[in-house]
Amino acid sequence: MVKGIEEGIFCAKCNVKMKLGVLPKYNYEDGYPLHNVKAYQCPRCNKIFFTEEQAHEMEARTTELKEHEFGFERTVTLSGKSLMVGIPAELVEHLHIKKGQKVKIFPIAKEGFIIKKTY
Ligand SMILES: [Zn+2]
Repeated sequence: MVKGIEEGIFCAKCNVKMKLGVLPKYNYEDGYPLHNVKAYQCPRCNKIFFTEEQAHEMEARTTELKEHEFGFERTVTLSGKSLMVGIPAELVEHLHIKKGQKVKIFPIAKEGFIIKKTY
């Protein structure tokens, strides 16, 4: 008998055996929701426990999500009394943006905003 595996994983609080299940959605890292995540869950208090292997899998999946996310990271700076965000050179070139270009800012809930060129 292999100790640990055969004995199962017990909830430290309830002292009952945790069940292996699949969580429909779990945020291993904020902003990167994973779907169908394997985890042990206490049938009594619903506390979740991950084995080292399960945690490694979530980490790998989170990294993969990040690599597929497209975006540019910028720091907000201050110019006079205005807060400024620089436009990445790649986008300037791709979108043919020149000084004097008019843009429109569309707020998105509390997440931020989208900037679109106006013609
Ligand atoms: Zn419990």
